[in-house]
Amino acid sequence: MVVDGGSPEGGPVVILLGPPGVGKGTQGVRLSRDLGWAHVSTGDLLRQARRDRTELGKKAQAFMDGGELVPDGLIIELVREHLAGLDGGRGVVFDGFPRTVPQAEALDRALPDVGRGVDAVVLLEADAETLFKRISGRRSSPNGRVYNIYFDPPAREGVCDETGEPLIHREDDKPDTVRTRLEVYEELTAPLVGYYARTPGLIRRVDGEAGMDEVQNAIRSEIGVDA
Ligand code: AMP
Repeated sequence: MVVDGGSPEGGPVVILLGPPGVGKGTQGVRLSRDLGWAHVSTGDLLRQARRDRTELGKKAQAFMDGGELVPDGLIIELVREHLAGLDGGRGVVFDGFPRTVPQAEALDRALPDVGRGVDAVVLLEADAETLFKRISGRRSSPNGRVYNIYFDPPAREGVCDETGEPLIHREDDKPDTVRTRLEVYEELTAPLVGYYARTPGLIRRVDGEAGMDEVQNAIRSEIGVDA
């Protein structure tokens, strides 16, 4: 899996790149759980900061709810702090980071300090219509169960099958915000494909429309770890 400039002294570093709704979160959680790797999701870290009402959480709130990106400076600082605490022997899977060229440049500067480099960038791809339905159709129960009104609806509209409680439609999953998130991806994040393509062999393309298990197996085969 290792390419020039990868991780000579530690576990591999893999970036999951792709538009919102393509399944980076689900796949990242599974990879890290099964392989014992660290899972670094800047979206999760920001949501935690909001719940904890930290300064970062307060600053990030309006950007997140509007579907815009949180400014690079805040994100880079957050990831730097996180990298410092990582155990060197474990692999790392980044999900939702980097999302801009300056973030990718900052990661490329920070990783060598911890004996690492980017070993693989997995580009998950899906049709825009699928992505729109996957995100804007998402509804969650207060008990954590997640439905989708297009692909996995509850028996009774707007109500959890298990608890009977009203389902929640996250602010950043509302249709207008989803459109913004998809546009922001095209404008600011998609250029990362060109950025990483400068290193031959770094990018591995995977069809994100396939079933969850198939996508997971494809990712593992692309990065050279056993399925
Ligand atoms: P996610 O769960 O990865 O889709 O992230 C949710 C929201 O958090 C995004 O819509 C952004 O507002 C913000 N966010 C997460 N990661 C980043 C990042 N690397 N750069 C800027 N904003 C981010």
